[in-house]
Amino acid sequence: MQSHVKIIRKHTEPASTSTVSKPNWKKELANATTSASRLLKKLQLESQLPLIDERPDFSCVATDSYISKMQIGDINDPLLRQVLPLSEEKHSHIQSDGIYDPVGDMAAMTSPGLLHKYNGRALLITTGACAIHCRYCFRRHYPYQHSSCKSNDLDAALEYLGLHPEIDEIILSGGDPLVMVNDKLSSLIQQLESAPNLSTLRIHSRLPVVLPDRIDEGLLELLQTSRLQIVMVIHSNHANELQHNEQSKLHLLHAAGITVLNQSVLLKGINDDAETLITLSKRLLQCNTLPYYLHLLDPVDGAMHFDVSRQNAMHIMTKLQQQLPGYLVPKLVQEIAGKQAKTAIFDI
Ligand code: SF4
Repeated sequence: MQSHVKIIRKHTEPASTSTVSKPNWKKELANATTSASRLLKKLQLESQLPLIDERPDFSCVATDSYISKMQIGDINDPLLRQVLPLSEEKHSHIQSDGIYDPVGDMAAMTSPGLLHKYNGRALLITTGACAIHCRYCFRRHYPYQHSSCKSNDLDAALEYLGLHPEIDEIILSGGDPLVMVNDKLSSLIQQLESAPNLSTLRIHSRLPVVLPDRIDEGLLELLQTSRLQIVMVIHSNHANELQHNEQSKLHLLHAAGITVLNQSVLLKGINDDAETLITLSKRLLQCNTLPYYLHLLDPVDGAMHFDVSRQNAMHIMTKLQQQLPGYLVPKLVQEIAGKQAKTAIFDI
């Protein structure tokens, strides 16, 4: 069990406010809604203001693209629930099983921002910024300020990769690596390409779902021209997140030769029923994206009200297996700190 020491976290705010010469997606990021009460007002839910925490430890952030997919007047909207800070995040009796570093990130860090947990792959924390703040985020307490790979930390990361020729895949994570502008991302990828042992670049990003205009021509070009094989793992939990614009952008990624997979988190009150997950898998297929992982909630302090029991998760998985072709059934997994791989859940 991790010690329950409070770590100074966290994600940086989404962007600076200057909008001169910025691409549209940057402007949208800079104008993200960062107040829970404003978010409720946009959705005509002023009557629900007593439910929220207006000064949460982990700030409220949601893009207009994401908010536009929520149902006006519905406090139980599955997208709203993912980003709305509720006062129950601070109820100690609900959160008592939650900890600050549920997946053992700090123990796996080899140099600032480089995590090496699994054989053959390593993960680079590139930034603490995200376009939305998911309330269940397992890195909501991560100390990004001193544990991200800043440009002057990259040499140490490359040196470590050089000493470990068995690592052939590097994962860009965060935060959200696609919050970086194309020039910065391109420079980072070029430096990673100089590591001869790397053959695959995996990008974990929620932006194709919550800020789809981030998939612009410049990004597609820089990914297409890399010598590395590119895999993009997006993060969608509900089919309502994948509307027309998201579908178009995911098609562009696919057309650019990028393997696109999805990971979801099983969340109480949001997607913890078979029908919702079946609809999501079918919608992902329409978006040329295959379901990859369905994660049990990482037990992070502040998010335990989203927890779904392993027993319920297995009931849901049984229905998915009965009703979907195998390639549309995500693998139910849990990340356990210190283990050499994700733990697949096959029984209760
Ligand atoms: S986008 Fe990912 S890293 Fe960012 S808050 Fe959501 S789950 Fe956490």
